[in-house]
Amino acid sequence: MDAVLHCTLDSEPVTAVCTAVGVDISRVDSVLEQDTSQRRCLNNCRHFANVANRNPDCARRVLSFADLLGGRVDRERGLVQLVHCPRSARGGSRRRCDVVMSVGDRAVLDLELKGSSSRTALDIAETWVAMVSRFCVVQNTRHYFVMINPVSGAGHAVKRWEIVKAVWNDLPWISFEELVTSRANEGEERVRQMNLNDYDGIVIVSGDGLVYEALNGLASRPDSDKALAMPIGHIPGGSGNGLAQSILHSSGESFGVLDAGFLIAKGGTQTLHLSTVSTAGQPPKTSFLSLAGGVIADIDLGSESLRFMGNLRFSVYAVMCVARPRPLEAQLVYWPEEADKLPRALCGDPPSLDEPLPPGPWVTVDGVFTFFWGVNTAWASSDSHVAPGLALGSKSWSLICMRSASRVDLAKCLLALDSGKHVNQPGVEVFRCHAFRIHPRGVSQFSLDGEHVPFGPVQLWPSQREAVALGALPFPAPSCSDR
Ligand code: ADP
Ligand code: MG
Repeated sequence: MDAVLHCTLDSEPVTAVCTAVGVDISRVDSVLEQDTSQRRCLNNCRHFANVANRNPDCARRVLSFADLLGGRVDRERGLVQLVHCPRSARGGSRRRCDVVMSVGDRAVLDLELKGSSSRTALDIAETWVAMVSRFCVVQNTRHYFVMINPVSGAGHAVKRWEIVKAVWNDLPWISFEELVTSRANEGEERVRQMNLNDYDGIVIVSGDGLVYEALNGLASRPDSDKALAMPIGHIPGGSGNGLAQSILHSSGESFGVLDAGFLIAKGGTQTLHLSTVSTAGQPPKTSFLSLAGGVIADIDLGSESLRFMGNLRFSVYAVMCVARPRPLEAQLVYWPEEADKLPRALCGDPPSLDEPLPPGPWVTVDGVFTFFWGVNTAWASSDSHVAPGLALGSKSWSLICMRSASRVDLAKCLLALDSGKHVNQPGVEVFRCHAFRIHPRGVSQFSLDGEHVPFGPVQLWPSQREAVALGALPFPAPSCSDR
């Protein structure tokens, strides 16, 4: 047992015990109403208190550090608030259910800490809350730059941000500056010009398009090496939220707005592999997500006018594309994955598109691609588990293709995407590679990280630099001895 806080509340004692495994609140009949924005969580707490009162056996409840983000003391009101976001019974999405305890500023503490009898109840509560908080998060004071795209998805990104903002406002060590973008590319320009020392991370509330802007803004700075070390967080606010889903899934979390805000607040990070993309007549771009051709590019780009539907736009448009698929005729050349270590030949600057590829074990695949889908992350959107098991930091891409597929096989493949079982469907080919070039013939389109790129040959080469994604588990387990 690390710390014990005894507060006297009217006649009832409230004991909160912090142990290495959780916060054990023996009586929570002291829940007080704060303000309307907290009504839902307080209702939950009140329900909890009612249960406790009716049945004393239920009065003991252990809150897991895994579900807590820490807390704060409201000295004026004499309240201890623990920010608590448990998951639903089956390990589903998180919901906010804070625990609010009254310390009572007139309370006299039953002090177990020798020599501190002159301290007030609130002083002790503050020490206790700070200690609980240290168990909950990688605690460093953080100042984030938050960019919100008001037109992404069905246009709810601003509202979604409010959910996370309400949580972060109760965490004293997180502060932020907000930018609601007013046009495309504004985010990229802001990131290119920002003073890196002012922020500890950039948080995107949008789909993958604004993440793409942020990463390209960082990668195109003269100090790009330092800039790309700036961690990037993704709160799903768009229709394609592949990065958010890949981070959440790899961290054992469910897909959701609060889940993403919760995971970012925990403070873990992981490496995000990047690629340099060359297209004819354009400066190189930086990609973190995907390159799609054929039916997948048509679904991705063609459905943009249906953005008001949110994520559903992809499914609705897919029905049309399966009925009238427009394949991509192309030659694909790729360097097969050997290990997670990059071969030397791929470690330098990429060759230009009109140069021959350096010698190596290149493999050529030619044909009529019903679709071609290269992905750098396990999920390309919240319900497309395109490359199951592909880690964010892995230095390889998964290329998933179907050549001359029947409509039935194509439909079966698309229907199995959310489970990731498409990889075992007839006609689906999967190549793992470190770099690739694709030379299309005829007229079609490519979608890079969900965005238009000029149609023509495209080359993806491992970038010399990596990015840092906000959000990772397993979160370091709390240990009494090292705190
Ligand atoms: P979605 O997942 O819905 O496609 P994205 O985040 O991918 O959402 O954004 C879609 C596009 O919106 C991107 O091309 C991005 O550059 C652009 N964009 C960002 N902010 C704005 C804005 N304020 N107005 C119009 N377009 C914007
Ligand atoms: Mg998009």
